[in-house]
Amino acid sequence: MLDTVPVRYSTLLIDLDHTLLDTDASEAAAFDSAMRSAGVDDPAAHLPAYHQINRTLWAAVERGEIATADVRTARFEQLVQQVGLAADPLQLADDFVAGLGNNGELYPGARAVLEALIALPGVRLALLTNGLSEVQRVRVNRLELERYFGAIVISSEIGAAKPAPAIYDAAFAMLGGPAKAGALMVGDSLTSDIQGGRNYGIATCWYNPQRRADAAAASLVDYDIATLDALLAVVQG
Ligand SMILES: [Mg+2]
Repeated sequence: MLDTVPVRYSTLLIDLDHTLLDTDASEAAAFDSAMRSAGVDDPAAHLPAYHQINRTLWAAVERGEIATADVRTARFEQLVQQVGLAADPLQLADDFVAGLGNNGELYPGARAVLEALIALPGVRLALLTNGLSEVQRVRVNRLELERYFGAIVISSEIGAAKPAPAIYDAAFAMLGGPAKAGALMVGDSLTSDIQGGRNYGIATCWYNPQRRADAAAASLVDYDIATLDALLAVVQG
């Protein structure tokens, strides 16, 4: 009888938004619903402004300048002011986070990859996400993701966000202190996922389906994959 072949990486830290989850679809549906509830007839016209504001705020979270929870309302306070909407930013924020939780599916094939990963001997997964608990917990439950992950680590619950080592410490503690040498961070963002993995001293796998070129990637990325199922070969080494 053959011995079981050990995997190259047995601890996988995996990002949620834009890596497993179709976040663009989730945001578009939530934005449309929140804006229509506020009486805005043409939500799509304001979506680019929202995206710009949201990106800027999350970049500030990554730099440790603001907390994850600050993003929730600030993005709508700024949007209302910038485009001159007669709407209550707090109500927009409430409706939007409800919509984010209730909308958006895993990318096609992502669930099959998760199934294949947890079937590998000794492999454990952690979901490691910069996000709001009230959004991500609803998604995790609705999409039945608990069964794949030994730890679900959400920045608003931890009080630290990728790329800070503190959120990786939290994930490793929840997993019972696995060896860093067998750990791999997987995600679409160079500034949060990949920089964070590098900061923590673990291997990094950039999910890059658009085949973006980035000068920073060369020094940060150990593996560059165009499809999520390519992760299986990386993990098996
Ligand atoms: Mg992401």
